[in-house]
Amino acid sequence: MSDATAKTYPPSADMVARAHVNAQTYDKMYQASVTDTDGFWREQAQRIDWIKPFTQVRDVNFDLGSVSINWFADGELNVSANCIDRHLETRGDQTAIIWEPDSPEDAAKHISYRELHSATCRMANVLRDLGVTKGDRVIIYMPMIPEAAYAMLACARIGAIHSIVFAGFSPDALAARVNGCEAKVVITADEAPRGGKATPLKANADKALAQCDASVQCLVVRRTNGDVAWNEARDRDYNALAQDASDKCEPVAMGAEDPLFILYTSGSTGQPKGVVHTTGGYITYAALTHEVTFDYHYGDVYWCTADVGWVTGHSYIVYGPLANGATTLMFEGVPTYPDASRFWQVCEKHKVTQFYTAPTAIRALMGQGKEYVTKSDLSSLRILGTVGEPINPEAWNWYHEVVGHGRCPIVDTWWQTETGGHLMTPLPGAHDMKPGAAMKPFFGIKPVILDPTSGQEIDGNPAEGVLCIADSWPGQMRTIWGDHERFEKTYFADYPGYYFTGDGCKRDADGDYWITGRVDDVINVSGHRMGTAEVESALVAHSKVAEAAVVGYPHDIKGQGIYCYVTLMSGEEPSEDLRTELRNWVRQEIGPIASPDLIQWAPGLPKTRSGKIMRRILRKIAEDDFGALGDTSTLADPSVVDDLIDNRMNR
Ligand code: ATP
Ligand code: MG
Repeated sequence: MSDATAKTYPPSADMVARAHVNAQTYDKMYQASVTDTDGFWREQAQRIDWIKPFTQVRDVNFDLGSVSINWFADGELNVSANCIDRHLETRGDQTAIIWEPDSPEDAAKHISYRELHSATCRMANVLRDLGVTKGDRVIIYMPMIPEAAYAMLACARIGAIHSIVFAGFSPDALAARVNGCEAKVVITADEAPRGGKATPLKANADKALAQCDASVQCLVVRRTNGDVAWNEARDRDYNALAQDASDKCEPVAMGAEDPLFILYTSGSTGQPKGVVHTTGGYITYAALTHEVTFDYHYGDVYWCTADVGWVTGHSYIVYGPLANGATTLMFEGVPTYPDASRFWQVCEKHKVTQFYTAPTAIRALMGQGKEYVTKSDLSSLRILGTVGEPINPEAWNWYHEVVGHGRCPIVDTWWQTETGGHLMTPLPGAHDMKPGAAMKPFFGIKPVILDPTSGQEIDGNPAEGVLCIADSWPGQMRTIWGDHERFEKTYFADYPGYYFTGDGCKRDADGDYWITGRVDDVINVSGHRMGTAEVESALVAHSKVAEAAVVGYPHDIKGQGIYCYVTLMSGEEPSEDLRTELRNWVRQEIGPIASPDLIQWAPGLPKTRSGKIMRRILRKIAEDDFGALGDTSTLADPSVVDDLIDNRMNR
């Protein structure tokens, strides 16, 4: 799969001609960004409006025990003013946010920059009246409605630090996060409609707040007008307060290194980490990557399908696009409601030009058949994007052919909650694409591949090992909230002097990068190191397999054996013959060394709410170690785990 001989897809001449960055400009800018890093970022930061210009570009130390990361530290700015106020003169009436509700029967909303300004100011004034000031923490536990964006921007406006908790999380997970950051206010809604069902958000918040300090206030936005319990001492009606609030609110001057938000990682590899991002570097990086990666031009309609509860929603629904004065679409629903054509209908309805989603959604929709796609007019689409997991070539090809009609470049963006924005991706007008490859580093990013045992950099091509980043970039996280020691230990201890990503990586003979999965997911079979993603890709390429997850387990002879959890396409029956067929299939696709030792039929796989397979749980099950499954609070459907344990022997 991942080699230089993979089929490549060069950008079309049209794409090259109109793109902000073509192959020549990429090479020139990339070189400049890594040779004169300070000069490069000093210039790029001019895309941001500074209240007080910075004089120092960066002050960074990656040494264990004294890790400290600062960008533009003596500058002052306000992120909300950068996302709204500065656009008012030139594009006040342009749509900032298109809101598409859960039900296609309900009307979409178009919110102009001017309307965004007054709504954000009102929200900011309501928060101020609740006593929120600079540095206070505010939890946002909201459906995908415009008020979620107003809440983020209102916090930024008055200098409060927001922490968004995905609306699908339980009261316990919410309480842990409220307490973890000692929040002053929780902003929620009565209910969150999603896929035709309504989650009782306010009732969940009530349960959570019962476990929190009595001083925490709850600001409730009306979404459905459903009945909710009301605690007079604690609950505040946002809609009533906003009506009386002023629609003017001066943005507060923030230091570039003042925290903008705290956001927890997905919890795929362990207990979620409270990632802290600050103001000046983050917004510079989010804005630049949004414009360049998606080749955003004035008049485009850009849609990222993530939830604002994930970093993708922060950087690429709200902050990046709005800092660029873009039109960004916010979708409340799910891809399969009312049916599997919803994404494509929304693309047609709003003439979406850039569409950005996750492999898990692509695989799910691919399984439903292409008729759902082909009945919509997708001629407005120009660029497709993916994020969250390695995308298997099978899904990549489907996305490229069926959704993009072979004419839209796919930007496979590799990055993390920790990185604030894209670190590696092909650029649509600059690079050939290879299905499944993250291809090239973004400006200012110096990826290095290290030997996992010696910790030495591996030069030359091809190379394979552990992915680290040699130097800081403005969007890098600054600390883990309240636990700087864990921050240093997690990212700077294993490979001194580098930022350790936790991911494995290959550089092929052409020098292009491929993410091979988590370092923890690399297995060693009879001395051969192998990324589990490769075996998964081979399994999924079989016509009867819908999804697969592969982990290692202790094996007497080989050291580690290959344990595969396989979900079949609907209508396919598990059988011994099929097991043998799949084994032979993988042997043929990769080689005898990759031959699965055990195959367990899995009706479902444990996934995070953002759709990532939690292999650490599958590893435990494969090892027969059910006692210590670890933090499962971010799982979408915990019952899947019980089923897999029950059927552990039946493989
Ligand atoms: P935790 O850190 O709590 O275990 P997580 O790593 O899943 O959770 P995120 O920050 O949401 O939390 O995800 C980042 C990870 O997702 C990356 O380290 C990488 O493994 C994977 N990833 C993201 N985008 C891509 C991509 N385009 N290709 C391959 N892998 C990707
Ligand atoms: Mg991670």
